[in-house]
Amino acid sequence: MFIGHFAVGFGAKRFAPRASLGVLLAAPLLADMLWPPFLLLGWERVRIDPGNTRFTPLDLTYYPWSHSLLMLVVWASVFALAYSWLSGYRAGAVAVWVGVVSHWVLDFVTHRPDMPLYPGGGPKLGLSLWNSIPGTMIVEGAMLALGVRWYTKATRARDGIGRYGFWSYVAVLVVLYVGDRFSAPPPGVSELAWVGLIAEVVLLGWAWWFDAHRVAREA
Ligand SMILES: [Zn+2]
Repeated sequence: MFIGHFAVGFGAKRFAPRASLGVLLAAPLLADMLWPPFLLLGWERVRIDPGNTRFTPLDLTYYPWSHSLLMLVVWASVFALAYSWLSGYRAGAVAVWVGVVSHWVLDFVTHRPDMPLYPGGGPKLGLSLWNSIPGTMIVEGAMLALGVRWYTKATRARDGIGRYGFWSYVAVLVVLYVGDRFSAPPPGVSELAWVGLIAEVVLLGWAWWFDAHRVAREA
């Protein structure tokens, strides 16, 4: 799943309006941010295999440290405690915890059975939504629409950056998402890892920037 994770971050603003969108997005994206460095370090493995599912050319052979349910609960607890300690904002810490763990649930729905429960064996699970391109796009598109709707209900732009920075961000997410369907599979694992990591850092920085130019609406 790709934009579905962004949808969770946007929607979380409704429950934790004082937390930066940068943090609220980093939580559901954390698993996919840990994954590229873990691939580069050789701790996790992926095989580029066009047609693996209809939606992705990736055969996710081994990624228990970034993507098992147990490890995501651990990462969620570390991230939420650190956030709570730094900010003192309880609702934000809860949103971070739920966001990190939500990654497993959403990937479980989309991936073929390759999602581990814990490192070191055990069953691998997945409902294989990725076998249907329209199904995947409808589910993720609907999630993004709902997340963006909740975000715009929770915040309003204070200036042009808050308004156009935000809407262009949503447009870029959609273009990246659709464009990815028509692009060639990545040439190699290190290219995949670097492009993924850089894109995630840019997208988080950009979200933090426009979000700082929006204010919470009074309830
Ligand atoms: Zn993932």
